Amino acid sequence: MAEQHFDVLIVGAGLSGVGAAWRLQHDVPHKSFAILEARDAIGGTWDLFRYPGVRSDSDMYTLGYAFKPWIRPKAIADGPSIRDYVRETARENGIDQRILFQHRAKHAAWSSETARWTVDVEVGPERRPAQLSANFLIMGAGYYRYDRGYLPDFPGFDRYEGIKVHPQFWPEDLDYTGKKVVVIGSGATAVTLVPAMAQAAGHVTMLQRSPTYVVSMPAIDPFAAWVHKRLPAKLAYELVRFKKIVLNIVMFHRTRKYPEQAKKFLLDMVRKELPNYDVETHFTPRYNPWDQRLCLVPDSDLFQAIRSGKADVVTGEIETFTSDGIKLKSGEVVPADIVVTATGLELQFIGGVEIEVDGEPVKMSERMYYKGMMFSGVPNLVSLFGYTNASFTLKVDLTCEYVTRMLKYMDRKGYQIATPKPDPTVKPAPWIDLKSGYVERSRHLLPQQGDRKPWRLYQNYALDLLTLRFGRLNDGVLAFSKAGALAKPLHGAPSTPPVAMPVETRVPEPA
Ligand SMILES: Cc1cc2nc3c(=O)[nH]c(=O)nc-3n(C[C@H](O)[C@H](O)[C@H](O)COP(=O)(O)OP(=O)(O)OC[C@H]3O[C@@H](n4cnc5c(N)ncnc54)[C@H](O)[C@@H]3O)c2cc1C
Repeated sequence: MAEQHFDVLIVGAGLSGVGAAWRLQHDVPHKSFAILEARDAIGGTWDLFRYPGVRSDSDMYTLGYAFKPWIRPKAIADGPSIRDYVRETARENGIDQRILFQHRAKHAAWSSETARWTVDVEVGPERRPAQLSANFLIMGAGYYRYDRGYLPDFPGFDRYEGIKVHPQFWPEDLDYTGKKVVVIGSGATAVTLVPAMAQAAGHVTMLQRSPTYVVSMPAIDPFAAWVHKRLPAKLAYELVRFKKIVLNIVMFHRTRKYPEQAKKFLLDMVRKELPNYDVETHFTPRYNPWDQRLCLVPDSDLFQAIRSGKADVVTGEIETFTSDGIKLKSGEVVPADIVVTATGLELQFIGGVEIEVDGEPVKMSERMYYKGMMFSGVPNLVSLFGYTNASFTLKVDLTCEYVTRMLKYMDRKGYQIATPKPDPTVKPAPWIDLKSGYVERSRHLLPQQGDRKPWRLYQNYALDLLTLRFGRLNDGVLAFSKAGALAKPLHGAPSTPPVAMPVETRVPEPA
């Protein structure tokens, strides 16, 4: 017997888990719930990452919750402010009282007989085993491993005698004043670290294998500043949020439709920022904008650091590390007192929790993502995942709304179970249609999307808003049933075999 039972268990007390808790409290206050959090802090990503300059790379008007206005001046906000915002949301709403800290979910077993999940948990540093049960599971466990980041197998890495740092595990006492720093990478983490470290370091080199599109934006949105002076906070927030959402959708679709124009526009901007720089080599990617994510820099800080001579970019492949630096295949040697490997995350799906349905282990890579939140043949489980081309929270907010609609519907109709029915006629496609290396590395672990509704991910907020807020719950795919009444084959059958497909867009990844 499980130690404690809840109507809903949320896994993860990050931006998504806290948002889901708010939604439950607001829409279905009679439901009991708890949040399982592996760490002893609220905030997830925004608590874990402590590297210099850590910040969002999308605006807080869309990364913030729909229900809680972002009232700080900076739209591109620093990590500690986002952490405070999540914690404040939890505290203000008593959500912090519902969190079971140091409770790591390991295994979740569904029983159709009882319409319950039994969740095996490890508690505290001593990893004491415990069991909880719930009728519904919401996975807000993020999308990457917390215990390790990605580190490529660099030749000669062990030979290097300087200081090595991974941004995911930043040493609090690292003093880089006056030091020669090399940041390996070209993603959001690298472009954040370079200008931030250049303020104190002797010199910072961003060493990249190939360039990324970099675009500058004002950290303080002028329209937002104007509106906030004139309107009440909530109304101003909603207006700016609406403007950002529409603008992002229009920009994304124009960029995909007219890639050459978009490319010219972006590169002209960089040329203006760096008039005497080799933009061709260091800032011109081989792919089209939005085939991979664009890197946002606030107030041109990266370009300023380069212009000041405190930072530069080197593009080339590493041949080997030496005792005091890095030798490239071109023969160039980059000296380094400190090497920061901003080489990315290691993807992990649903917090690494093993799933079992009616005694059968579920391989997520063989399941299909229903409406970007549930999985074929897996009852009463929702996973919170954001857009790859817009702020994470936009999709998560809509998903949470959908969950409470579904819970209310089930209560009204006397159902206990909701299961997306596998449809073998739907063609599978990769869930994250992105070419980035870290997605490719993890593809075998990830579920698939389908080639048509409701299995296809459109990465489009406006469309999702219509579907998830107003669309039919009983759509002929989501099967509702009572405890003990569900046919076994629904769970057992994998959707369709995984196939490799061409990939296109982006996922929110910082490095
Ligand atoms: C440096 C960085 C910058 C980013 N910037 C942006 C941005 O600007 N815009 C954007 O849209 N996205 C951004 N992202 C993506 C970002 O992760 C999401 O925006 C958002 O923070 C995800 O929130 P989450 O709550 O879903 O996941 P997380 O923040 O990852 O939180 C997950 C929580 O679940 C807990 N957990 C995990 N597994 C278990 C388990 N088995 N049992 C119990 N608890 C568990 C973790 O401890 C953690 O507290 C960024 C990511 C990084 C790393």
